[in-house]
Amino acid sequence: MLADLDGVVYRGDVALPYAVESIRRAASTVRVAYLTNNAARTPSTVANQLREFGLELADDDVVTSPQAAVRALAELVPPPATVLVVGGEGLTAQVESAGYTVTRSADDRPSAVIQGFHPDVGWRQLAEASFALQSVDGAPGIPWVSTNSDWTIPLQRGIAPGNGSLVSAVHLAVGRLPVTAGKPEPAIYETALDRYGTRNAVFVGDRLDTDIRGANRVGIDSVLVLTGVDGAKQLLAAGKGDRPTYIVDDLRALHEPYPPVLIDSDGAVTVGAASVIMRRNRVEVLADDGEPIDLLRAASRAIWETGLAIYGIDVPDAVFRRLGIEPPSR
Ligand SMILES: [Mg+2]
Repeated sequence: MLADLDGVVYRGDVALPYAVESIRRAASTVRVAYLTNNAARTPSTVANQLREFGLELADDDVVTSPQAAVRALAELVPPPATVLVVGGEGLTAQVESAGYTVTRSADDRPSAVIQGFHPDVGWRQLAEASFALQSVDGAPGIPWVSTNSDWTIPLQRGIAPGNGSLVSAVHLAVGRLPVTAGKPEPAIYETALDRYGTRNAVFVGDRLDTDIRGANRVGIDSVLVLTGVDGAKQLLAAGKGDRPTYIVDDLRALHEPYPPVLIDSDGAVTVGAASVIMRRNRVEVLADDGEPIDLLRAASRAIWETGLAIYGIDVPDAVFRRLGIEPPSR
């Protein structure tokens, strides 16, 4: 089991309800790894934080975007090449331990640039990267790898620019884009799957456009847990590549049987005691006596089967109200 952190295990400094006990129970029968796009924290810092929540894990059970970025880098430029690092200690240490020579200056004629978030990244580092990445005399420029492309990072005091925004500053100067390693790109998933020597994995995440999209790209099953960023509204609107295999309201469901999603010859979708059918562009609820989440599971499948865009579909408020959420305004 591969798990995202924020919105799955914890939110901010607080463990989410049922998350720790459910993951501990899962870990008694399967290997559990944790994937994070955060490039500023080392695997052991992340592992320590998870231990404080009561999880048992090795540092090696944390897979970070710098690790995935170095893997992607090695496919482009093998060590011991000289690499210009934009980022902090976490990324520098990862690049060095892979056998590369680290530089901070374009004057050292680096063979590649690797870029990750750190609060101290400023204009000088971004300018050095830009100088190194500019192509000379029409020759193709040197490879550029970014740990992740998250535009923003949510912090206690508000939303701040993330690595994607800093990458954009360099992009505007050099006119091209980097290879990206973090979710939803395959590199971070492949790094994890390689480490455990398996393709038989399920990804548990709270964001459709990163966690779930990436799992679909590498062809593994996924669980969307509704304790984080994306909720019923985003799920019903999810495009083909962003649809999870399973939908759960919290992680206790990892230990419960998942009801089959049944589609009858009329197109009615039944999950547990919930049943819906599409009447033209309208979702009609035929039965709704069981778990609230089953109605969402049935409605999302029925909507996805139509192939219609969500703004053309009329979803009854009950689908949202049953889950205790206010229906979106129209
Ligand atoms: Mg998350």
